[in-house]
Amino acid sequence: RPVQRVAVLGATGSIGVATLDVIQNLHRCDPVHDWQVASLSGHSQIDSLVNLAADCHIAPERIVVSDPEKQAEAARALNSAKIRTDSEESPNRSGLDCGLDVGSEALVRAATEKDVDVVVAAIVGRAGLESTLAAVHAGKRVALANKETLVVAGPVVTQAVQENGAELLPVDSEHSAIFQCLAEARARKSQTPAGSDDQTDLAAQTDPTTNWPGVRRLILTASGGPFRDWTMAQMRDATVEQALAHPTWKMGAKITIDSASMMNKALEVIEAKWLFDVPADKIEVVVHPQSLIHSFVEFEDGSLIAQISPPDMRMPIQYALTYPRRLPCPSPSLDRTSPWDMTLCPADPERFPALALGFEVARVGGTAGAVVNAANETAVDLFLKRQIRFTDIPELCRRTLQDHHHESSPTLDQLLNLDVWARSHAEKLAGPK
Ligand code: NDP
Ligand code: MG
Repeated sequence: RPVQRVAVLGATGSIGVATLDVIQNLHRCDPVHDWQVASLSGHSQIDSLVNLAADCHIAPERIVVSDPEKQAEAARALNSAKIRTDSEESPNRSGLDCGLDVGSEALVRAATEKDVDVVVAAIVGRAGLESTLAAVHAGKRVALANKETLVVAGPVVTQAVQENGAELLPVDSEHSAIFQCLAEARARKSQTPAGSDDQTDLAAQTDPTTNWPGVRRLILTASGGPFRDWTMAQMRDATVEQALAHPTWKMGAKITIDSASMMNKALEVIEAKWLFDVPADKIEVVVHPQSLIHSFVEFEDGSLIAQISPPDMRMPIQYALTYPRRLPCPSPSLDRTSPWDMTLCPADPERFPALALGFEVARVGGTAGAVVNAANETAVDLFLKRQIRFTDIPELCRRTLQDHHHESSPTLDQLLNLDVWARSHAEKLAGPK
């Protein structure tokens, strides 16, 4: 069987761990490909990273520790795991035989390695940008969880995808849902030769700038997070523990706080704009507390196509790895033995100002995404350290955005410099610790 080698960047995180489960499942059940793990990366959780490598049924060839300060700790941990797996009855019966690479450049090496077929970009935040972009430049299939990369540098990344024949497949559940629902529009697009009558008709019927014949809107669902029904006054006093208690998804801390502020949906609006190349006014957000409907596509005739599955990231992760094939997945099916609710209600940008900010950033583009993302990462960090209030998060983002000089066609260097500026500006605005 032809081999598919996967680099999992951010393996110690929530998406990373779910990805390993998916790869082990594919290793067992894929009749077409033999799935292998080329590398696993972690940043601070060295013991977890080494344990993942030791416990994985398919031993990775290399672990990558992106924090250079952790080199000695990583070498020690890997050594003792090798001794342990040699002597114990471990899943890797031949013992743990894997290499170690350290530093941020090691992430780029892992992402661009010649024999790697798929790179799972599951590092959180702007820290994932260089390795994701490197994978794109190397023409890989990139299973993208790291939405911040597109928020910061959407135009740069999407242009590089085109130029290098890379594939950028969404892992984010909403974008995976839209990607799946667009199958019909994609089929029409591929069946319609450029300049044919059918295409002209379609273009006349719909917005002539649309990339998706017959598509009216992309509708992203949002769970609404733990503060879905809270007033602004209640949210002002929200604690870190309350914000971390997400009702439907179990995720890393940063995205969980983003979900509570609805900044996650704001980032997803921007992500959708770049992934699907649609203007902001063709994207909508609706609240769906049960997180079963992962998003919709609305067609010109008013028909809505939705993708529905239980809230489990293994399904969209696996689809990004195996697309266009579908294979059995370790995530559960929707329980149909008892009644299930699927409620939909409009989103409230008054109580969740981050949402309005997301649409604004998606409309103006340019440097706005890099600035808001950096301000948000800084603000979330300060909130987690209990140095600012929950409601300060969108406020700091808005003020940082206001204070920057907008450029409509920035270079990558300009975006990275602005990222640094926006972090320190947001800290300054937050006031003394
Ligand atoms: P986690 O916080 O659980 O994991 C983050 C991963 O990134 C860890 O492996 C962490 O390493 C690594 N990391 C952290 N900082 C750095 C750094 N400076 N350099 C290199 N690596 C670093 O996050 P999630 O798995 O929840 O999210 C990952 C990405 O996926 C995010 O962009 C998120 O928005 C997106 N996403 C997540 C979903 C989910 O269900 N969790 C759903 C949809 C999207 P270590 O832990 O060793 O420090
Ligand atoms: Mg999502």
